[in-house]
Amino acid sequence: MKFGGSSVADPDKIRHVARRFVDAKRRGLNVVGTVSAMGKTTDELLALASDVSPTPNPRELDMLLSTGERIACALVAMAIDDLGEEAVSYTGSQAGILTDAAHTRAKIREIRGDRIRASLEQGKIVLVAGFQGFSRDTMEITTLGRGGTDATAVALAAALGGACEIYSDVPGVFTADPRIAPNARKLPFVSYDEMLEMAASGAKVLMLRSVELARNHGVRIHARSTFSDEEGTWVTDYEGMEQAIISAVTHSETDVVFTLTGIPDRPGVAAMIFDRVAGAQVNVDTIIQNVVHGRAEMSFSVPAEDVAATQGALTATQAELGTFSVEQNEQLGKVSLIGAGMRSHPGVAATMFRTLADLEINLEMISTSPIKISCMIGRDRIPEAVRALHDAFALEGEPVVEPTI
Ligand code: ADP
Ligand code: ASP
Ligand code: MG
Repeated sequence: MKFGGSSVADPDKIRHVARRFVDAKRRGLNVVGTVSAMGKTTDELLALASDVSPTPNPRELDMLLSTGERIACALVAMAIDDLGEEAVSYTGSQAGILTDAAHTRAKIREIRGDRIRASLEQGKIVLVAGFQGFSRDTMEITTLGRGGTDATAVALAAALGGACEIYSDVPGVFTADPRIAPNARKLPFVSYDEMLEMAASGAKVLMLRSVELARNHGVRIHARSTFSDEEGTWVTDYEGMEQAIISAVTHSETDVVFTLTGIPDRPGVAAMIFDRVAGAQVNVDTIIQNVVHGRAEMSFSVPAEDVAATQGALTATQAELGTFSVEQNEQLGKVSLIGAGMRSHPGVAATMFRTLADLEINLEMISTSPIKISCMIGRDRIPEAVRALHDAFALEGEPVVEPTI
């Protein structure tokens, strides 16, 4: 059972979450919980770090950020004790969560669950601090990247062989962010493939890597509400008989677009640039290239947290390739349509572009996959674009086919 930061934001909420753990335990289950840092703690710690240092040392950043989850876990354990059940909290490293050595973006390699299992055998509710682990190579504490407690939850479920419930302030995965599209509808089921595209294109209700882990290890995720008992959304390998053409509209307002001009137009240059960028662990999304008078111009988008790494990689490539210039645009956002049924239905792109054109929204970049179409547009136009696309594809209506599993 995983509870996000807004679910443990204050003492009342912590007591409420403790009650949910205790109820599950009293239903006869072995309960392993993981919680995020309280409320906006991680943002506050990051702001504090950048007030102290313009380029915080990544090792120290992980020492700092990992404390947020420890605090929340210990408090939940205390509240569980008060309800008459035994609980024990562990840091990621105490719980045996082993990661690679990449500070602030580590990947889980393995979970040595012995200590968790021993505590479960003693009848305890076990709480594992989310979002963190330990690298055997460097003997250092690592964190897993923003939203990383979702990855902790899925990895624990995979390692211990349990079901994975992810509780948050929304009752499931919706056809659009319910904060932007008030008529968004909760989806009863989402396939791993669709959820991967949704998470990758900005639906932060589940962290992208948690969905990858779930798909790779066959973990079914139940995304549901902390504050009610209603059924949430199941993320599984389910594929319906007949799929909705469009399942959801997603958006992201944090991507940054880099444009490189004056690049030599010869084979191997793009490979060199993107090798460098990948070497800096940057996740590049939309890429477009044009050739004008024998020189190439290239634009690509990266998530906000990868901007510094991208700048570093580009500076190194500039030194190697001779001059090309780099521009950075922070005025764009991305709106995407996701749907497995899109594969067999032509015309989705046309309807999307027409809907945006009717709002006089200019399309700066377009990218597609078999089940996704994304457009980069002005960041300030994102909310109205999400609402218009949600209406244009009639996503507020009842689903045509109710899947069963
Ligand atoms: P937690 O703190 O519990 O990890 P997050 O803030 O990371 O929760 O994720 C939940 C938020 O995700 C919701 O408050 C909602 O605004 C946002 N969100 C974005 N897209 C969607 C979507 N398609 N369905 C549900 N929530 C979404
Ligand atoms: N507290 C971390 C964050 O804010 C991890 C998480 O919430 O899952 O990103
Ligand atoms: Mg989250």
